[in-house]
Amino acid sequence: MSPADAAGPADVVVALDVGGTGMKCALVRPDGSTVHTERHPTDAGRGPDAVVETILDVAEGLAGKARADGLDPVALGIAVPGVVDETAGVAVWSANVGFRDVPLRDLAAARLGLPTALGHDVRVGGLAEARLGAGRGTGHVLFVAIGTGIAAAHVVDGVAATGAHGAAGEIGHILVRPGGPRCGCGRDGCLEAVASASAIARRYAEATGGGLAGTPASAADVADRAAAGEPAAAGVWAEAVEALADGLATGQSLYDVESIVVGGGLAQAGPRLFDPLRAALHERMTFHRRPRLVAAALGDEAGCLGAALLALDAR
Ligand SMILES: [Zn+2]
Repeated sequence: MSPADAAGPADVVVALDVGGTGMKCALVRPDGSTVHTERHPTDAGRGPDAVVETILDVAEGLAGKARADGLDPVALGIAVPGVVDETAGVAVWSANVGFRDVPLRDLAAARLGLPTALGHDVRVGGLAEARLGAGRGTGHVLFVAIGTGIAAAHVVDGVAATGAHGAAGEIGHILVRPGGPRCGCGRDGCLEAVASASAIARRYAEATGGGLAGTPASAADVADRAAAGEPAAAGVWAEAVEALADGLATGQSLYDVESIVVGGGLAQAGPRLFDPLRAALHERMTFHRRPRLVAAALGDEAGCLGAALLALDAR
């Protein structure tokens, strides 16, 4: 029986997707429809204890809002970035929120008195895209989020693999250009050092002598300028696309998926990303079956929806 089949007519899940700057929050029905959304600042600079208090307060407020509206909050799902031990319910490590071994699931379950699941932001986003979004109807999905960094979720039959230590899916740290640009992880030549949205902006600034006039160009600007035929932008963009194709080809060799769903800020580039990336990926396929390469469908709601699905699964 699926969670939706078991649901009561007024059941909702309280869902939070906690990022470094903001929290996206929602009340989600078991069928994946959203009945209420809120946004709150994370203010990570206050330190992890204050962030945890805000998460608990916001979750409690949402459960109260649900009850006031005649709904029945049945579970709580929280997504956070970094390394997440979903089995233990612990936010192990996060660079941008500052978590170090925070037992967030048990803290939240104690405060709200609801069954609670803690998940990784990209893995639950992949879960939502695989079950409700662009990967719907395909059993084997690789979801790749390209923004400040690059991370992935491998979802099989609606379940995202977590890895033995909560760190599965770090596709951004596949070595694609040995001796290439320095990555945030300390190694040279990782995929995300060449092809994340921030890497594209940084590499373009370096190639052009760095934003002398006005605001620095974003990755979207680089895509625009590449499409307009500007040589520096075209070079940086082409290098990013080739590196992404190498990374995704490695992913396809490992996972043999039906669909690769690309989300995050860079996916906003649309055909300027997907057309050359699809061609470059297919060039790299020899015996492999070609995956469908598609844009994510749920936008920045994916994390909240996925946190809700995870909570329903764990209930
Ligand atoms: Zn790296």
